[in-house]
Amino acid sequence: MRGIRVGQCKAAWSFVSFGSGGGLCDAGAGQVQPKAPQRIARGVWFMTGDTNGYSNTVVIEMRDYLIVVDANYPGRAKELLGITKQLSPKPVRYVFDTHAHGDHAYGNSVWTAAGATTMAFQGVTDEMNHWEPTRWRNALPKRPDLQATGEMDVQRPRMSIAGDKLVLNDGTREVDFLFLGWGHTPGDGYVWLPAEKILATGDAAVNGPRNKLLDAYLANWPKALDKAIALGPVHVLPGHGDAGGIEILQGQRRFLVDLYAAVKAQADAGKKPALN
Ligand SMILES: [Zn+2]
Repeated sequence: MRGIRVGQCKAAWSFVSFGSGGGLCDAGAGQVQPKAPQRIARGVWFMTGDTNGYSNTVVIEMRDYLIVVDANYPGRAKELLGITKQLSPKPVRYVFDTHAHGDHAYGNSVWTAAGATTMAFQGVTDEMNHWEPTRWRNALPKRPDLQATGEMDVQRPRMSIAGDKLVLNDGTREVDFLFLGWGHTPGDGYVWLPAEKILATGDAAVNGPRNKLLDAYLANWPKALDKAIALGPVHVLPGHGDAGGIEILQGQRRFLVDLYAAVKAQADAGKKPALN
């Protein structure tokens, strides 16, 4: 179904089942339309970002409200306000930032303006306090959606999670927010649905050549992934790239271990990074 022509892409997307592959809509002039939401389980949907540097999104339906993972960039957040209404009439109550990077968290103010509560582990706020507003301002000239907010800094998550676990259980579903250690960033949060065995990873695991290591702790990241693998997820919903199974976690772990070993071998041999 990949690469179907624009004539086959109706204005409103239709649902695709998990594993069917979705399909990219070629809208011409180099534009790519996002894939339709994938229904992973009852009341759980996954969307790839695909365009404009957007990250993936997970929507979880509770008895009275929706949870969204991640806030995304402001442009995508505005699109998602409409998309979530098509998925369910329930309001978005919580938006969880898996980490502090702009493609996952810069849309925070869009969601709070719509009445949602943004939330993240304390390490996410700490990272923002460390790096912002420098990164926001560096991104501003390149991103019309940031300019449209009229803001000069990322809005911090309204709710910070202390410790390493928060459980939401409204009687219809349990959702666990987990901190498994510093991997991709010091504040990495995972979302685990124990009954459905669904794990949303943020960029702690990506599917494909989409790794960004600028805030990573390479030696510890595989240990965090070991904990994620030990959960035994059936569905893994990465921060970028297509959804899949536990092989996404295993592949991510293998990549990091191999990368660390290759660089360490060079360093041990006395090699130094090339300086431009
Ligand atoms: Zn990231």
